Amino acid sequence: MMAAPKQTVPSKCLECHAELKTPVVCEKCYSLYPVPATVDFFGLFQLPRGYDLETQEVERRFLSLSRSIHPDFFTTQPPEVRQMSVRLSAEINEAYRVLKNPVLRAEYLLELAGGESAAADKSVPAEFLGEVMLLREEIEDALAGDDQPAIVRHQESTARRHAQLQERIASLARKLPEAKYAEMLELRQLLNSMKYLDSILKLF
Ligand SMILES: [Zn+2]
Repeated sequence: MMAAPKQTVPSKCLECHAELKTPVVCEKCYSLYPVPATVDFFGLFQLPRGYDLETQEVERRFLSLSRSIHPDFFTTQPPEVRQMSVRLSAEINEAYRVLKNPVLRAEYLLELAGGESAAADKSVPAEFLGEVMLLREEIEDALAGDDQPAIVRHQESTARRHAQLQERIASLARKLPEAKYAEMLELRQLLNSMKYLDSILKLF
């Protein structure tokens, strides 16, 4: 895992001068600060930037931050403070949604490393689309005919394929941001493929 990049954030609270443990809230006087442009989701949760994260740690940081900046806490404060807590809550929720999900986390790391976004590159590996279309047809037929053995077989093989894809995504995401260009392209395509497999799994 690579070390967290240097992120320039105020180190002391501008109001009470206590040491800031998070970039967005002073845990002593509850002054709020906007997320600095240099701070990504990992920095927001004070976690090292990298694919391998302790799920429990992500959860712990999320709950602690959410509690400190919860809008209910600021109802007697001026409107700009209330708005800031609402905005920070939304950003913290989004960071949590991305960091706790291994596929979204890999996608986020890819974009941080300068890789293409899903919107910019929708490609999938050659032959994948054809395979997936065929698989979808077979599954729909099995479901329509209530062919239980075929349904179970397809469900198991799709789940297995999902797990293999997940593993390959993880191994490529671990190489970021130093991955080779070809590896970043492959990762983009596998992340795109994952969306097709997810939609197949929803058929069952
Ligand atoms: Zn303070």
